[in-house]
Amino acid sequence: SDFLASSDPIVASFIDQELQRQREHLELIASENFTSAAVLAAQGSVLTNKYAEGLPGKRYYGGCEFIDKIEQLAIDRAKELFGAASANVQPHSGAQANFAVFLGLLQPGDKIMGMDLSHGGHLTHGSPVNVSGKWFEVVHYGVSQETEQLDYEQVRELALRERPKLIICGYSAYPRLIDFEKFRSIADEVGAYLLADIAHIAGLVASGLHPDPIPHCHVVTTTTHKTLRGPRGGLILTNDPELGKKFNKAVFPGTQGGPLEHVIAGKAVAFGEALKPEFKTYSQQVIDNARALATQLQNRNFKLVSDGTDNHLALLDLQCIKMTGKQADALVSGVNITANKNTVPFDPESPFVTSGLRLGSPAMTTRGLGTEEFAEIANIIADRLLSPDSEEVAADCRKRVASLCDRFPLYPHITIPVPA
Ligand code: PLP
Repeated sequence: SDFLASSDPIVASFIDQELQRQREHLELIASENFTSAAVLAAQGSVLTNKYAEGLPGKRYYGGCEFIDKIEQLAIDRAKELFGAASANVQPHSGAQANFAVFLGLLQPGDKIMGMDLSHGGHLTHGSPVNVSGKWFEVVHYGVSQETEQLDYEQVRELALRERPKLIICGYSAYPRLIDFEKFRSIADEVGAYLLADIAHIAGLVASGLHPDPIPHCHVVTTTTHKTLRGPRGGLILTNDPELGKKFNKAVFPGTQGGPLEHVIAGKAVAFGEALKPEFKTYSQQVIDNARALATQLQNRNFKLVSDGTDNHLALLDLQCIKMTGKQADALVSGVNITANKNTVPFDPESPFVTSGLRLGSPAMTTRGLGTEEFAEIANIIADRLLSPDSEEVAADCRKRVASLCDRFPLYPHITIPVPA
């Protein structure tokens, strides 16, 4: 804004440069998206000034009459959007939401069961470098080596053998649908709680385009900034009012202090947007676009983990072209495509090198690209990866990326001042 540019031109200039970067790159990181201008406005508001420990109507600070209305609106919209009886909109992030669930349900030393990080799980699902792996005993399940998809019988056998207190489903790099009903029957068989972490697929779930976890899980956590297209943040949902009270206490005072009410206002705006019919159209396009990308990569003889996708992401397995994820990441990044290297199931490479490249459709779908453009993106990626040493191909790819970016402008209402 003009205020920022005149009072702190250094920060303003970095923000302008970041906007320019977002405009000039094809954003394919599966966990990113572009929020609406309305969400940006809510986040950059005076709400950041306010302390509001507690919940609407039960605060530890005065002056919360309008904050209460905003947070209650966010709660009501989240409940309506996901069809849940209880919602806590305060977690600062997906990791914070999961941590609060652990505090609400578990004691240190309890056993939890989640998917292995290298098969598509998240750090907060029991990785040794995360508090979930340090404070709990962890058993990991993975995908089947043959299908690279969940094998529910394998999950069941592990659960019966290990008897975890909590089972976690929901992933960061799994391109297929999740059968929450099956997970619940396994959890019931061993007397475990079931947590679905739908951080990646929340927008698809909210649109009714992915099986619904709410009726089957004791608790559902999510981030609000991926397919859901809101501000960066977390959310906890449950249909059990008693568990809902536990999670409210686990968020505050359990693991957080004052809620970020400017972010909560952004969540309220995003949930309002997701309740509109246009959001379902958007989510369907996200799925169609991921499929178009995946299909064209397969047409170009690339191998995808699980041989395809049902959701917003595809995972390229580069072992067939004897390339690492790290090399592929650098190559596409050199032609202004942003993605991330990612382990594939049973990856022989280290997590820093990897054999995979994760590609997602949510962000570029928000910019308006359709299936034809996603097929072109697949061709650009294929051309670049198949001619890693050609500067000529690189220049051509950069030109095609620039053409797509020009055709689908990002935040056209924001102007970047031309340097004097
Ligand atoms: N859970 C899953 C499945 C995720 O993919 C992520 C983020 O990538 C998180 C939790 C953590 O969210 P955050 O980065 O907001 O803490």
